[in-house]
Amino acid sequence: MSFESLDLRAELLRAVQDQKYTTPTDIQSQAIPIVMAGRDLMASAQTGTGKTAAFTLPLLHRLAEKPVNGKRQVRALILTPTRELAQQVTDNVVAYSRHLRIHSAAIYGGTSIVGQMRKLARGVDILVATPGRLIDHMDRGTVDLSQVEMLVLDEADRMLDMGFMPAIERILKSVPAQRQTLLFSATFSPTITRLAQRFLKNPETVTT
Ligand code: AMP
Repeated sequence: MSFESLDLRAELLRAVQDQKYTTPTDIQSQAIPIVMAGRDLMASAQTGTGKTAAFTLPLLHRLAEKPVNGKRQVRALILTPTRELAQQVTDNVVAYSRHLRIHSAAIYGGTSIVGQMRKLARGVDILVATPGRLIDHMDRGTVDLSQVEMLVLDEADRMLDMGFMPAIERILKSVPAQRQTLLFSATFSPTITRLAQRFLKNPETVTT
């Protein structure tokens, strides 16, 4: 399987070439067609398997296929357990979107909230966030999630282990019901499966 055969937009194929990737990884060749088709997805994948590109590439493809006019709004929200992972995912988003007009930002704890508020006020298409800091912005009214079309829960099992279940529930209730939801987790525990049953619609399952 090649990246070309996945029908990704030319700007994304160029970004993949810039990264010197030659072949999609297992999780990428399985997950990308499902996400491109607009389906919800529940995927088990460890770090190091290329899971970030598995959701980022088709997410960017879908946003770029349907450009919106006017002020930039958060159209995709990616939740991660830690600030390190949020930064890593953002670096990936920036690298893969370099040939597109798509803006992203990372918001996480431990750094000034004011700088993040300014970034949000300028407008972003993709927001990568840790649950706690996102709730903080929601409480201050400095983030608008009413236009979210795609939501990714990255390392969902770790987020639950860290006690983020209440925050995740609140965030999931604050985004539109009509959206595409992708859940990535190292393991499918009963708690993860229950979370998926509550918040994903008829998901496809991928295991690697
Ligand atoms: P991840 O599992 O998303 O943390 O990715 C692990 C590493 O694999 C990262 O350094 C990526 O840049 C790299 N990577 C992702 N997809 C590919 C690919 N198709 N070919 C080679 N390396 C890749």
